[in-house]
Amino acid sequence: MTSRTPDQIRDAAITHFVKRAVPKFNKGQEEHGGSCDQRANFEELENEIIDLWFYMQSLKHKLKLPPKGMNCCHCKTELIWGGEYDYDESALGDRPMGQTTLSCPKCTATFDVCLPLEDDRT
Ligand SMILES: [Zn+2]
Repeated sequence: MTSRTPDQIRDAAITHFVKRAVPKFNKGQEEHGGSCDQRANFEELENEIIDLWFYMQSLKHKLKLPPKGMNCCHCKTELIWGGEYDYDESALGDRPMGQTTLSCPKCTATFDVCLPLEDDRT
């Protein structure tokens, strides 16, 4: 994984947020109807916090799992988990994809594993 400057980290995060937030907001407005300003209340906010809590717990669980049985195809050393990213669009098709990056601590090879995501993310 290449290192990024603080400006690159900020810009990538903001670009990704806008790309995801605008369609999600518009979809939510269509699904729930009316204005978010009229619908916002503490009960809705608590529901969102509860969803966030369960997503975070599931992600923590996933991050604790070592990539058992995944060894470098060049030198057979056990690979190190480097990160996991979700993409709405994929170079392999128009399905949402999850990508896991693994690296070899011995020969520095890197591996990207792509898997179609269930389309239940909101
Ligand atoms: Zn290796």
